[in-house]
Amino acid sequence: MNYLANRVANLQPSATKAMTERAHALKLEGKSIISLSQGQPDFDTPPNITKAAIEAVNAGKTRYTPTSGIIELREAIKNKFLSDNQIEYSTSEIIVGTGAKQILFNAFLATLNFADEVIIPTPAWVSYPEMVKLIGGNPIEVYCDRQANYKLTAQQLEHAITPKTRWLVLNSPSNPTGSVYSKAELSALAECIRKYPRIMVLCDDIYEKLIYDNQAFYTLAQIAPDLKDRILTINGVSKAYAMTGWRIGYGAGPKALIKTMSIIQGHSTSNPNSIAQYATLAALTGPQHYLQQFTMAFEKRRNFMFGKLNSLDELDCTLPQGAFYLFVNCEGIFQKTTPQGKKLNNDIDVAFYLLEEFGVGLVPGSAFMAPGHLRLSFAAAESQLEAACERIKLALALLQ
Ligand code: PLP
Repeated sequence: MNYLANRVANLQPSATKAMTERAHALKLEGKSIISLSQGQPDFDTPPNITKAAIEAVNAGKTRYTPTSGIIELREAIKNKFLSDNQIEYSTSEIIVGTGAKQILFNAFLATLNFADEVIIPTPAWVSYPEMVKLIGGNPIEVYCDRQANYKLTAQQLEHAITPKTRWLVLNSPSNPTGSVYSKAELSALAECIRKYPRIMVLCDDIYEKLIYDNQAFYTLAQIAPDLKDRILTINGVSKAYAMTGWRIGYGAGPKALIKTMSIIQGHSTSNPNSIAQYATLAALTGPQHYLQQFTMAFEKRRNFMFGKLNSLDELDCTLPQGAFYLFVNCEGIFQKTTPQGKKLNNDIDVAFYLLEEFGVGLVPGSAFMAPGHLRLSFAAAESQLEAACERIKLALALLQ
């Protein structure tokens, strides 16, 4: 008997999670595995944040909270947007959720009618198209070339827009490419968006704080304030504050949208975890010096990995400007044969060869709608990264 709903017929499991779980299973079998497949910092959550959580528990702050999040936290988020991004939001334009993921889900649920289109510049994070499909929308993938540093141009956007377009998704710094949109690039996109009043823009800024080479970060609502009522800006503490497991993300946008998202949230999770909200309050209002420490550590690791992998003839990667992933073109390996006699025809074959035979876990680019690539996270200890590079070098040297 098939008891599953039609809407899940084409639902794909998260490839990132699948690779991580396979790596974990191999580890349990006793194999030496270096897992570079997951998108999370290897640092511990800073102590002032964990202390605030413990204090919240001890103070009995363990009950339901307002659906959109405690007012102190929404005030802190309001201040964050003002000081970091020069965007003025009121607390009624802000919602806190169970990770940025829930905010995205709420937003799509609140706005997409059947077959409404969502433009997703690719390579893109695995979950955007799956969320859109699940809700009955239609993800429109627009492939962005390496020559444009994997970023959407205004011409591409103009070309992709139809009367059914509801959202454009922008993710800067990008998972998986690490590309960062400049002020000029965002301005060019804004000019196009102005012509189509029905289109909303979802800016996923979750990697905002992880940006390298002293580059500036810009988000669309900041550089096109006239479009603010059509923009949902999403952010969170998972990546910047090493808080992936706490599950707190937030969004800011037009009041009516936020109100509807809050009603949806009220019927799904009631409110984000109360203790994690107090921890997030400490993260946003407490000392910020470790953000720089984390970024400096990631930048050093990025430079190391980029140098090592780019020196291999078969691989070709762009230098990521943000986030903590290296996006590597591996087409130079295709058609080669492994010592076990298997021909490597695509990025999935390459990813499995590296995991099964050499214990290096990474994610094939197909998962990010960019076949021919591999995504490696450099949010791991330097010794692990060094060992992974050595293993990859050996794996490639043994191919015929
Ligand atoms: N957006 C992007 C681009 C991500 O890479 C991730 C996590 O991998 C998320 C959103 C979700 O973040 P959160 O942990 O806040 O749900």
